Amino acid sequence: MFDLVLSSGTVIDGSGAPGVRADVAVQGGRIVAMGDLKTQSARRRIDVSGLVVAPGFIDSHCHSELSLIARPTAESKARQGVTSEVLGNCGWSAYPLAAASRDTITQLSRPIFGSPEVSWAWSDLDGYYETLERGGIGVNVATLVGHGNVRAAVLGFDDRKPNAEELEQMRALVQNAMDQGALGISTGLSYPPGIYATTDELVALARVAGRNGGLYASHLRDQVDGLVDSVQEALDIGRMADLPVLISHHKTCGRRNHGKVKFTLPLLEQARQDGMRTYSDMYPYLAGSSTMTMLLPPWVFEGGLEGMLARLREPSARARIAHDWETGLPGWENRVAAVGWENVTVSHVATPKNRDVEGLSVVAGAAKRGKSVLNFFCDLLVEERGEVGQILVNSCEEDMLMVLTHPHSMVGSDGIDVGDHPHPRQYGTFPKVLGELVREKQAMTLEAAVHKMSGYTAQTFGLPEIGLVRQGYWADLTVFDPLTVKDLATYRDPRQYPRGIEWVMVGGVPSVAHGSATGDLNGRVLRRARVAPGTSRARG
Ligand SMILES: [Zn+2]
Repeated sequence: MFDLVLSSGTVIDGSGAPGVRADVAVQGGRIVAMGDLKTQSARRRIDVSGLVVAPGFIDSHCHSELSLIARPTAESKARQGVTSEVLGNCGWSAYPLAAASRDTITQLSRPIFGSPEVSWAWSDLDGYYETLERGGIGVNVATLVGHGNVRAAVLGFDDRKPNAEELEQMRALVQNAMDQGALGISTGLSYPPGIYATTDELVALARVAGRNGGLYASHLRDQVDGLVDSVQEALDIGRMADLPVLISHHKTCGRRNHGKVKFTLPLLEQARQDGMRTYSDMYPYLAGSSTMTMLLPPWVFEGGLEGMLARLREPSARARIAHDWETGLPGWENRVAAVGWENVTVSHVATPKNRDVEGLSVVAGAAKRGKSVLNFFCDLLVEERGEVGQILVNSCEEDMLMVLTHPHSMVGSDGIDVGDHPHPRQYGTFPKVLGELVREKQAMTLEAAVHKMSGYTAQTFGLPEIGLVRQGYWADLTVFDPLTVKDLATYRDPRQYPRGIEWVMVGGVPSVAHGSATGDLNGRVLRRARVAPGTSRARG
């Protein structure tokens, strides 16, 4: 007898293949049978006629490291149909942590990871996963190792190259993360301390990830005016270190750069023809979200948090920051110049004192305080000790669609679950693709969209036995109504759950039932299968 049968749904299996009418049986947390199961007995039978049965969605780009501890049901993701999250993106992971850099890492990552009340009582991936498992999680979790953590653990926030011994220490930290099940290494090359790394350093570290079967995911050095060169750098690293390359939130920033994905996507295609596996992830929104400190030039961060705060207080340093925004610096992403302050909104602050500027653009916030934009910006970062989140309108619809519909792209929310005004992608990414892009705009087929949310993502990261509705696979399943599925989260009112996601199962246990969260915590940590050094794994 089966534990559960989902009967009479249309199965879109995550492989990209056309949907078929089939019943799906679950037993012991796995999919055990598919087809016409009307005559078979089951403890529970759910009629899902008219609905699509898809693999549970895998969010390829997450920053939920601490919000998962604070809110383990991950309801904002579960209600979208997400059953697995890939953490450790953009150079930021929860680990490794060394004593010397712990304070700066934990403080600077607050606008990204959120949840200040969580203590970071671990130092490596095993320790972090133990913490997650102890509290329970409502989604499965996999992670990359963040280059920023690796560099900070050895070099702190110094703007210099590692010596041979330090590079060896960094390589050992990457190896340790891979041994403990990381999926690869990520960089955040416009954030400190990743911003101080040379290409050579990244090749040396990526090589360790690659020989263990991992990939290289890059939040590029310059996503703004230097986008094309930065994509080229990521591909060079992939070629020299011999591993797959994933361009994180592949997009254009600022009107003068719109259209540039017409150049960067063909670069990825060319690399594929040369034998490298190349990928992109993207969310279906034109605005991005991050920590506001990312707008600062790299010299401001030297010495870590206290160095940054001291400089932000000094009038001479403020003048130098303004000058750099005006004229730019070689090798630095000058986002302010390309995007404009009117397109930068304060999404989160730490203290009640500045709560009134949440949701305002920097221009409006400065006007409210009767300050110049420069002084408002610097004062705010000082008062909040750097804990300021931002939402920036970067891109254009045409570029976003071109990336998302590209055959080697995955859907990734890049969601940040922090504050009262988080980016709506934390609540709306997956239903927005299914409702707006597939049903309303017909930008891609439903099968292609589901593939980019499940099977293709599992294949890219090497996550076994998830991402497909297939016999023997984990019963991670999402059941939705293709005619009504829709995101409801907006920039003004972001904490709104979508509609049309009816059932979500994690290992056969519903995290969402009849469209409501159950509170069950049946998620598990997903470790990359260990690969012997020197062997490369065939993945598509
Ligand atoms: Zn990023």
